[in-house]
Amino acid sequence: MEYKAPSSIDEAVALLAGANGNARVLAGGTDLLVQIRARFIKPPLVVDVKNIQELRTISSTDEGIRIGAAVSGAELGEHDVVQREWPGVVEAAELIGSTQIQGRASLGGNLCNASPAADTVPALVAAGAICLIAGPDGPRRAPVEQIATGPGQTSLKNGEFVVEFQFPRKSPHSGDAYLRFIPRTEMDIAVVGAGVSLTLDEAGVCKQARVSLGAVAPTVLLVEAAANALIGSRIDDQALDKLEAAASDACNPIDDKRGTVEFRVDVAGVLAKRAALIAKERAEVN
Ligand SMILES: Cc1cc2nc3c(=O)[nH]c(=O)nc-3n(C[C@H](O)[C@H](O)[C@H](O)COP(=O)(O)OP(=O)(O)OC[C@H]3O[C@@H](n4cnc5c(N)ncnc54)[C@H](O)[C@@H]3O)c2cc1C
Repeated sequence: MEYKAPSSIDEAVALLAGANGNARVLAGGTDLLVQIRARFIKPPLVVDVKNIQELRTISSTDEGIRIGAAVSGAELGEHDVVQREWPGVVEAAELIGSTQIQGRASLGGNLCNASPAADTVPALVAAGAICLIAGPDGPRRAPVEQIATGPGQTSLKNGEFVVEFQFPRKSPHSGDAYLRFIPRTEMDIAVVGAGVSLTLDEAGVCKQARVSLGAVAPTVLLVEAAANALIGSRIDDQALDKLEAAASDACNPIDDKRGTVEFRVDVAGVLAKRAALIAKERAEVN
């Protein structure tokens, strides 16, 4: 196995494109190295992207925040602006593994590993984050929800990789939140995850919302019907009941030792409702 650590995007694209789909990007390695050591995969080339400046930087401008795809969860949690504007994304990253894992694990790796149970993905989808993707045909942008196409599968083409996540500048009276259910208190895979982002108007009426669910379908879901249940309401009991029903309705989960279909469907509604209430509380003080 060959290991390369390019320092520019162009160099990384050339290396990946030259390997005809057989190379793997390495960010924190907390998924990739486990898969290589377990002999699930045997890539002839590993391209470490951590020396590329753009993938390791967080920047905040008038337009919004950009988070490099290889920035670790620990770095994210220490960034005041990200903490203030997207607490739901930070709390999702801070649920990953342990302190040691969070020192390595990146948003790009969590997304591109394409696990339906990846914790940061529902939070990123709820936030409306957009991926900047580099590739042999030049840069392109795609919403986070369009990257995973099934368990372990992505829409990235040969030679492409995620450079950064772009977040819109947060509007006043906005809040987001992420919650997951696991059978233990930590170090476990989400049985269900729910991300909600919303904006209230001056009168406290919800004018924008995005609701996303993880671990209840082959890919993370963006549930428009659940968001529509909130929009136009004061996020009262009636709206929350509609949101709960819409979230449960959207689920198409597997049945396994960690949770039955019935349990996952039920918990998805409950978590979406609780995440919406936390997002609302955050929006009220913003
Ligand atoms: C003990 C342990 C506990 C864990 N707990 C959790 C948990 O609670 N929740 C959770 O969601 N996950 C968990 N994970 C999984 C893992 O830590 C996360 O998915 C993490 O975010 C992966 O990021 P990484 O930077 O380590 O990715 P890597 O392992 O470097 O890469 C993962 C995959 O994404 C690809 N990739 C990486 N970066 C890019 C990029 N920029 N563009 C394109 N492709 C890319 C790689 O080629 C690889 O296929 C755990 C793992 C371990 C070992």
